[in-house]
Amino acid sequence: MDFIPVNEPLLNGNEKKYLCECVDTGWISSEGPFVKEFEQKMGAKARRKYGIAVANGTAALEVAVQALGIGEGDEVIMPTFTIISCAMAVTKLGAIPILVDSDIHTWNMNVDEIEAKITPKTRAIMIVHMYGLPVEVDKVLDLAKRYDLKVIEDAAEMHGQSYRGKPCGSFGDISAFSFYPNKHITTGEGGMVVTDDEELAERCRMLRNLCFRKDVRYVHDEISDNYRFTNLQAAVGLAQLERLEEFVERKRTMGKYYTEQLKNTDGLILPVETTDYADNIYWVYGIVLDRQVETDNRTMQKLLAEEGIGSRTFFWCMHEQPVYRKQGLFQGEIYTNAEYLARKGFYIPSGLALTQEQMERVVTAIKKIACRDFGL
Ligand SMILES: *Cc1c(COP(=O)(O)O)cnc(C)c1O
Repeated sequence: MDFIPVNEPLLNGNEKKYLCECVDTGWISSEGPFVKEFEQKMGAKARRKYGIAVANGTAALEVAVQALGIGEGDEVIMPTFTIISCAMAVTKLGAIPILVDSDIHTWNMNVDEIEAKITPKTRAIMIVHMYGLPVEVDKVLDLAKRYDLKVIEDAAEMHGQSYRGKPCGSFGDISAFSFYPNKHITTGEGGMVVTDDEELAERCRMLRNLCFRKDVRYVHDEISDNYRFTNLQAAVGLAQLERLEEFVERKRTMGKYYTEQLKNTDGLILPVETTDYADNIYWVYGIVLDRQVETDNRTMQKLLAEEGIGSRTFFWCMHEQPVYRKQGLFQGEIYTNAEYLARKGFYIPSGLALTQEQMERVVTAIKKIACRDFGL
């Protein structure tokens, strides 16, 4: 029995053709022409003026936060239930993540809890759209305006998604994308910052490339990493971008299929399909185990593996990260919804290359486990 991986990307468009062009022309570094074309096209998709391609999504967040001038002692409000890249982009600069609990239904940050977290030190709010459904952006933008705060949008999981008809990646001062292979479009590794602010864009270009001084090369007034993005990555990205709408449709069809097949299985809480501001695009198909189910997500991952099916647990909360606890951060903080999701949430195979037959096997295995082990 073949193992069904949790994610397999689809690379059967123009990827090979464009990659060969790189090799034939010798343009393989970050100086190649595809990089600018990809930046321009990604920016346009997010209705932003500027795109700055970087090495990965984590780098995109780091560059975005640093470009905004956030530093020592500044506070940035963000969800506790997210990937560490969000918190790290802040803590690396000596700034402090101020955490917010999740909405138990949408799995996104509960935007109604943000205002109470604002202090004189608050500089920004980081929006992180989770697993396919956008955050209630309007409420965040409204707060940011009233309190004069910057907004960073982590749209890593949101290629092709929109909020009230406006594309994700277009909100706030600056947005970040990732092109890791499990995102809707991939470049292997890769990321991008998009913004409408010319000065911010220029700072991002500096920050991705060691902060070379413009007038004299090899002289630096500031420290940053090498986060450059290659022409090879852009070649794959351009081919992927040509199919974004098709990919989003495919993910939606897969999501709907899983929901249809699993909705009558006791013990499973399935993703919200639609809200008044967006329809889910199922970055991954997440499932949360009901409170009556004793099984946790790590056990679920093992049980699924025994059936030849790959899965992953949900993110682990920032306030429960050993590395931050050791640094004395988030002491005594409790976020019950986020903690629940981190222990009971998991996602099943949902890559673009997944076949109908494979999905059927995944459904059968989940139903079998639910019936045998959930004790309902
Ligand atoms: C994937 C992801 C990232 C990080 O992207 P990498 O390219 O893996 O560094 C950041 N934020 C969110 C919400 C993500 O899903």
